Amino acid sequence: MDKIRALSSGGSKQMSTNGNGHSNGKDDSNSRAQGGAYAVPMPRADWIVKRKEEAARTGDWNMSQMHFARKGLITEEMAYVAHKEKLSPELVRSEIAKGTMIIPANINHPELEPMAIGVESLCKINANIGNSALSSNVDEELRKLHTAVHFGADTVMDLSTGGDIPMIRDAIIRHSPVPIGTVPIYEALSRVKRVEDLNIDLYLEVIEEQALQGVDYFTIHAGVLVQYIPMVSKRITGIVSRGGAILAQWMTAHHKQNFLYENFDRITKLMAKYDVSYSLGDGLRPGSVADASDEAQFAELKTLGELTRQAWKDDVQVMIEGPGHVPLDKIKEQVDKEVELCDGAPFYVLGPLVTDIAPGYDHITSAIGAAIIGWHGAAMLCYVTPKEHLGLPNEKDVKDGIIAYKIAAHAADIARHRPGARDRDDAISHARYTFDWDKQFALSLDPETARSMHDETLPDDYYKESAFCSMCGPKFCSMNWSSKVDKFNEEVHGLKKPDLTQIVTDQMALRT
Ligand code: SF4
Repeated sequence: MDKIRALSSGGSKQMSTNGNGHSNGKDDSNSRAQGGAYAVPMPRADWIVKRKEEAARTGDWNMSQMHFARKGLITEEMAYVAHKEKLSPELVRSEIAKGTMIIPANINHPELEPMAIGVESLCKINANIGNSALSSNVDEELRKLHTAVHFGADTVMDLSTGGDIPMIRDAIIRHSPVPIGTVPIYEALSRVKRVEDLNIDLYLEVIEEQALQGVDYFTIHAGVLVQYIPMVSKRITGIVSRGGAILAQWMTAHHKQNFLYENFDRITKLMAKYDVSYSLGDGLRPGSVADASDEAQFAELKTLGELTRQAWKDDVQVMIEGPGHVPLDKIKEQVDKEVELCDGAPFYVLGPLVTDIAPGYDHITSAIGAAIIGWHGAAMLCYVTPKEHLGLPNEKDVKDGIIAYKIAAHAADIARHRPGARDRDDAISHARYTFDWDKQFALSLDPETARSMHDETLPDDYYKESAFCSMCGPKFCSMNWSSKVDKFNEEVHGLKKPDLTQIVTDQMALRT
């Protein structure tokens, strides 16, 4: 354990962003010392204590944000999110009450800096980390967490399937200012010899332990029903979801209905106590563009809609997971169906990859689909790394995946005209046009890479003031010539360019 703390203290101290994500818990009025070297901020600590005291007084132990929202209360988390998203607190409350926005925030995760997932808020991205039985360890996973948070992941899923899963998860949660999601069936499977030995009692035990640790959302594949299994026989790639495949095997072995579906209410009641949100898993998502939008996928989606309404009866927050691999022309249909069948519960989409031919570059094939599905209304995009289909991602793959998805989510925000979404673009464009190289680097998604690419050919400080770069050189720099045209327009026609100084100053302030 000391080793984890020693390593993660370095990671946590640096768990800043470069302006791409959360503010890294600047409110450190509450913090827990770890290993004596640093303190992990716990911005929710006081709020949670008060909420537990109130529950003890009233006997109402439903701690979900939806429960409070439906009682007409604006929690501290809702107010925090409203401020961050530039939305009114009442709008946040009413969206949560309706189920079209969630704040995944387990009451056992005080280190969390609240964030919202919903179509009214900015498009979010999730990064998956976690080891496999063949590779990785806790130090590596904490480095991946650090990289993911630093480059702007809004949530992180720990998908560990090997080693000491609870210990790795605890280290991740205790150092994470963003919500942590898991797929509990993985840990349940690690505790039995064969898939057939899985059962609801073991599953409930696992999710309660994870809820007590502070997991903020669970992927639960309760919509994979036994009657849908024959539908995948026509597919090229069958069932590609790990959770979906495990449950399909369990159902075929027992000739019984999915035990998560049959016991959904028991799971829901447990989640309400800790405010763990559902991420209703798409166990039958398409694994190739040929399989997109087929009968199996939409049959499961319909069931997820029914389960959503069932969870809402207990005021438990829900988001819906989506595909996968989808050709461009079928992307809009995916969102329309989800909104129709699941009453607008936030749509949390993996990719989608728009072609299957580029292993090694699937952060690109999927970011294309992610930008478009985000534009049409997906609330959160689950990243895909270049290693998809090939191996367990390392720290560099995590970074490449995050950057691709920050671009996709931001492009979606611009296209949806979300308040202030284009400010950073305008600021960086102004810096670029005025040859303010240092500001151009600082305002970029990955300043270090932008600077090093520029400096590869023009490293001297002198060139940070030059009105050209090595792409076109001084004689052919179009922006340099264009500035002379601006002068002409001003002097001869009295036409001034818009003044963007304030936007640049504001955007720079967000990044210092
Ligand atoms: S030289 Fe070309 S690429 Fe470089 S700043 Fe000028 S116009 Fe842009």
